[in-house]
Amino acid sequence: PAAWPTSDPPRPGSTEVAEVETVTTIAEVRARTDAARAAGRTVGAVLTMGYLHEGHASLIAAARAECDLVVTTVFVNPLQFGPAEDLAAYPRDLERDVALSAEAGADVVFAPSVEEMYPRPVLTTVSVAEVTERFEGASRPTHFAGVATVVAKLLSIVGPCRAYFGEKDWQQVCVVRRVVADLSLPVEVVACPTLREPDGLARSSRNVYLEAEERAAAPVLLRALVTGRDRVLAGERDPRAVEAAMAAVVATEPLVELDYAAAVRADDLADLAVLAGDVRLLVAARVGRPRLLDNLGVTVPPA
Ligand code: AMP
Repeated sequence: PAAWPTSDPPRPGSTEVAEVETVTTIAEVRARTDAARAAGRTVGAVLTMGYLHEGHASLIAAARAECDLVVTTVFVNPLQFGPAEDLAAYPRDLERDVALSAEAGADVVFAPSVEEMYPRPVLTTVSVAEVTERFEGASRPTHFAGVATVVAKLLSIVGPCRAYFGEKDWQQVCVVRRVVADLSLPVEVVACPTLREPDGLARSSRNVYLEAEERAAAPVLLRALVTGRDRVLAGERDPRAVEAAMAAVVATEPLVELDYAAAVRADDLADLAVLAGDVRLLVAARVGRPRLLDNLGVTVPPA
């Protein structure tokens, strides 16, 4: 077996794909989720920007396994893109997203227009301090306010549910957990493991931008993380030494330009003087056009 999840096991007992309903208005999706809850059924939500791949499908499958009504949202949220970022070029294919959602087990796809979500200039935003300030937030100053705002809005639209997020975007999971806790949203956040290509590259909608040589170089990110984890498991407790070891691995690939390699406390991304408890190793790098992210958890064994 592979050392990491690469795709879902086939669902037993059926090859046929259930019906999925596509809705585009807030009122329609609310009517579906309200009716489900009124009938005593649980609701699962998977929030995406579309161009779905096996990583998204694994979240939908997790929701399918645990909830009665599964809603996938497909919305490329302009608020979370900076002015110089790839909003207009972000890959889109709703027809394929609907098919993939159906195959993975979703009941409803909510695919609103920008006008449906933001009919007027947005005056109310959700901003999360501290956990947003480093790493992705440092290079993308408005990104997490955009994410937190759309997540709060989509969760308010879907209503009480279990919401499934990928560990692939670890900092995003930390931010979403704070939004849900701080705003008392009636939502249980479930973090799911990162789905990878067979060579270890984390699946991402942005992988389509990689040229062949860049694609071949990109698995260095997971190799760096595994090196970092092995150093911790071998007894290294200095975060700077672990970070340097990860950076040295990335430096072996000239096509991969490291942004950061970090070893931090897992739940709030705080710096640790000495590694202890649940640690998250994070890397981000530009590989040709896209910026790629990856991360890995390691629990420091007690002394
Ligand atoms: P996105 O469409 O990139 O905004 O991602 C939507 C959701 O899918 C987020 O919760 C991501 O963390 C999650 N996701 C993206 N890639 C993966 C992956 N390779 N494995 C698991 N979850 C993923």
